[in-house]
Amino acid sequence: MKTYVLEDEKELKLLDETMEKVRREKLPTILGIQQAILRAVDDYMYKNGVVRLLPNMLAPITDPLCHSVEECAITYQGQEFNLTKSMIFHKQIALSNPNLQKIYIVSPNVRLELPERGDKRHLFEFTQVDFEFKDGTMDTVFEFMEGLIKYAFDYIKEECKDKFEKLGIGTSHLDITGPFERHTTQELKAKYGDDFEAIASKKATQPFWLINHKREFYDAEDLDNRGTYRNYDLIWPMGYVEGLSGGEREYKYDRIITRMREAKTDESLLRNYIELAKRGELPKTAGAGFGVERMTRFVCQQQEIDDVTVFSRKPGKEKYIF
Ligand code: AMP
Ligand code: MG
Repeated sequence: MKTYVLEDEKELKLLDETMEKVRREKLPTILGIQQAILRAVDDYMYKNGVVRLLPNMLAPITDPLCHSVEECAITYQGQEFNLTKSMIFHKQIALSNPNLQKIYIVSPNVRLELPERGDKRHLFEFTQVDFEFKDGTMDTVFEFMEGLIKYAFDYIKEECKDKFEKLGIGTSHLDITGPFERHTTQELKAKYGDDFEAIASKKATQPFWLINHKREFYDAEDLDNRGTYRNYDLIWPMGYVEGLSGGEREYKYDRIITRMREAKTDESLLRNYIELAKRGELPKTAGAGFGVERMTRFVCQQQEIDDVTVFSRKPGKEKYIF
């Protein structure tokens, strides 16, 4: 039998680089801290009665997002499915079960980000802790998330002392005083200009809430204050920027249609979702999702999000081998 010989210089170099990344000395330490974060998150969810759903990775509908990504549809039995970009619609629909009140999913998301997102905080697949509360509001989500961060950070400070020492980074960035400050996008834009999120994040020493973003149709508009939105991001301090996005959701038929038309969303694709709204079967909810790798990056004070993964998923590279 003839053995295959890999001769392509470029690919050989890539193989060496990839294995160097896999074998990095600090990787097990980072993974250990990430595991402790996930353990604390699960524990907090359990203690607060938030029921865990397992993820769906394939679905006929998924998050339309508010930025362009490469499409990744696949065909199953002649029907088109998408890889999950987020479980937003599934969260809303699951909560129509009268006995489910609060849910979360540790959800793998595939978003084939364009090369310009080859920055320090995007991957083209990542894991999101995605939660949603029936009858939730902005305030209930803020209080819940502030509690989660404090619980998780207190746990890892204690549990991972030796690991933080190994990374040589200390833990003062994990001392959470909360409740977090709340700022609107308009307020910070007026203060710092277009790059307000990055500048405010660099100046901050505690996470803060950034409220009111015009984005996906499902984030609720404030009807007492048209043109503003009851949605929010959590911004990590020290320049680590966005760590979570969420909102109170549109759930009424007329509002969903209005917002879909504004966002030029394909209504035929979402026809079953729209039908549920029309029947009044979409519950009133609020929720959010935070990126696990982004939280790990902040906690471990790593420059690049790609530094916390075993295999590179940084967008815009010429080639990926594993
Ligand atoms: P979104 O609702 O689209 O903002 O996604 C929720 C959260 O998932 C974000 O706040 C990030 O923490 C994380 N996230 C979103 N896109 C990416 C990405 N391409 N790479 C890594 N994390 C991401
Ligand atoms: Mg976001």
